[in-house]
Amino acid sequence: MTAAIIDGKAFAEELRARVADAVPGFAAAAGRAPGLAVVLVGEDPASSVYVRSKGKATTAAGMLSLEHRLPASATENELLEVVRLLNADPQVDGILVQLPLPAHIDEAAVIAAIDPAKDVDGFHVVNAGKLAVGDRSGMVPCTPLGCLMLLKEQRGDLSGLDAVVIGRSNIVGKPMAQLLLAESCTVTIAHSRTRALSDVVRRADIVVAAVGRPEMVKGSWLREGAVVIDVGINRVAGAEPGKTRLVGDVDFADAMGHVGAITPVPGGVGPMTIAVLLRNTLVAAHLRQGLPVPE
Ligand code: NDP
Repeated sequence: MTAAIIDGKAFAEELRARVADAVPGFAAAAGRAPGLAVVLVGEDPASSVYVRSKGKATTAAGMLSLEHRLPASATENELLEVVRLLNADPQVDGILVQLPLPAHIDEAAVIAAIDPAKDVDGFHVVNAGKLAVGDRSGMVPCTPLGCLMLLKEQRGDLSGLDAVVIGRSNIVGKPMAQLLLAESCTVTIAHSRTRALSDVVRRADIVVAAVGRPEMVKGSWLREGAVVIDVGINRVAGAEPGKTRLVGDVDFADAMGHVGAITPVPGGVGPMTIAVLLRNTLVAAHLRQGLPVPE
């Protein structure tokens, strides 16, 4: 069997184009473009790259991009003050505080300070709670929502399918499981204490791997024809000395002989995250202005 490779990059480009198409209509109705503010504390190189590419994508979609950079020495109160100002700023529809924060700042307290209506990351407990109780008015975390979009594009109706999510973080695993449950999948959440993980995974029609362990999931763990979404981004040594490359949590080459469809790393889930962030900002902007949300 030849597995289909799920092209997250192409899907993300389409989604970004759809968002960009909807911006002029919003601007005409609201008298302003949707606005996304990204806050970065410190100089972590990976975070700086993410923040820069989020800013570029926001501008490319015709939205207002605001960037707030604080030194690594910034206090929690200084960061909270920035969040308060952004909450009160009428031209800001989405606020994203880039994680991880320096160890002396309480991440939960900062997330709790964001206006839930502007929480385009969907990490606020109000939004996590809405997802858990099936209230669709909340903001949904970007990475799992992107995974769901790819799954529905690939499989259509997911109702009744067995889904295994490996990983239980608040930003990927748990919201992913909630989304699949809302699609009427039978959901298992696996984690580091799960026994006989390969047997658990083998039952699944859908596998979402969000672990952070390079190529941990082997082809023999996967049911014939399963659809596999690989969220993992792991940097490993490359073929040439001194070079590195990115791999997922699934052994891609090994899995190809077993599964029905699989996302590659890179080019699968990664590009979806920013595209969904733009979509969430567009949705937040419409909701804040009392306008109907475009498809
Ligand atoms: P976390 O480290 O927060 O969570 C990892 C999860 O994996 C935990 O629940 C942990 O279990 C579980 N786990 C660890 N080891 C094992 C094991 N041996 N067997 C089974 N489960 C295990 O990571 P995140 O959820 O933040 O991210 C996961 C991966 O996704 C990372 O590679 C990250 O880089 C990537 N990522 C990619 C994004 C994208 O845009 N594509 C966005 C966000 C993340 P326990 O809870 O028991 O410790």
